[in-house]
Amino acid sequence: MKIPLHVANIGPKEKEAITEVLNEGVLRGGGPYWRRASELLEGISQADRAMLTTSCTHALEMAAMLLEVGEGDEVIIPSYTFPSTAIPFVRRGATIQFCEIKSSTLNMDPTHLRDIISDDTLAVVPVHYAGVGCDMDEINTLAQKHDVAVVEDAAQGVNATYKDRPLGSFGDIGCYSFHETKNYSAGEGGAILLNEPKYVERAERIIYKGTNYIEFQRDEVDRYTWVDIGSSYLPTELQAALVYTQLQRREELLQDRREIFESYQSMLSPIADTHNIQLPEIPSNRESNYHIYWMLTETKSDRVALEHFLRKRGIGAASHYEPLHASTMGSKFGYKPEDLTRTTEIASRLLRLPIHSQMAIDNCSTVVRKIADFFDLEYENPC
Ligand SMILES: *Cc1c(COP(=O)(O)O)cnc(C)c1O
Repeated sequence: MKIPLHVANIGPKEKEAITEVLNEGVLRGGGPYWRRASELLEGISQADRAMLTTSCTHALEMAAMLLEVGEGDEVIIPSYTFPSTAIPFVRRGATIQFCEIKSSTLNMDPTHLRDIISDDTLAVVPVHYAGVGCDMDEINTLAQKHDVAVVEDAAQGVNATYKDRPLGSFGDIGCYSFHETKNYSAGEGGAILLNEPKYVERAERIIYKGTNYIEFQRDEVDRYTWVDIGSSYLPTELQAALVYTQLQRREELLQDRREIFESYQSMLSPIADTHNIQLPEIPSNRESNYHIYWMLTETKSDRVALEHFLRKRGIGAASHYEPLHASTMGSKFGYKPEDLTRTTEIASRLLRLPIHSQMAIDNCSTVVRKIADFFDLEYENPC
């Protein structure tokens, strides 16, 4: 692809940190970079406690263990998300209920949530799509009313806010991703944010193979033993060093993305107006991290044709999720593809355009010009 969908921004600072780790020779998890990156995240997320993990999927697995999700427990997630939102709960025996999304932000629809949440629900897992926060006031109010835990899948939400508070800090637990395709990248990586002090002790044990090794490291016990369930959820120091440097550069990386996002918004708006294309909307009470630039074409066939047209010209445009309720696994929970019609309809028309922190505005104009060509318009750069 001449203009790829996303590229990780690995600079001299990252290389320096990696070299330092290799020279020091402490590579395993729980080392100095793990502590520094986790503390930096506590500052960014305002969580009581943050811990870097091997991935966001694994952070969600830890959340499912901390909530003691069991056979038949009901967990509500949006259908429009990645399988990682569901799997950590499903593998502990949970039954999944799928929630519709709103057509403005493509986030969990609180109106549908109100219809399906009940006192039998154990947890609700909102996903902050594209780095724009869900309606957290409405979601948390419904959750409190039914005594339901909230776990935020904030994989895409690092360094974004809702009503001036960081995403990831609204639920009992929040989960971040540092996958290569995300805004701040360690190749693979994630973090769990604990917003309730009661989870901290168990989380420290679950993250380190069910042992009290982290307490031992702090000299709180004189040897460590097997004390809980758990797994191997600590990233290596190489990953932690990458997360740390990427987060130190977060404002620079954010600013670069904002410029691309805003250029798309202004350059695409005339085409959008004349071709019934919906461009993304960021509600005024939230700050985006500009993780994804999406547009909704008028019809599914427009999206399929435009995606093909752009890809043939070296532009990494892509659709996104197949709604989970319509997947093979979704059918195991009794869903049919024709359920959740709004989600299915939106997913069929959604196209993502290239956006990353190293993208030049010129590339942005090229993408818009090709879209105009597709719709056979005279292209004029309004900037
Ligand atoms: C990327 C992503 C994940 C998975 O993150 P990993 O760190 O790769 O495990 C989960 N949920 C959503 C919404 C994501 O975008």
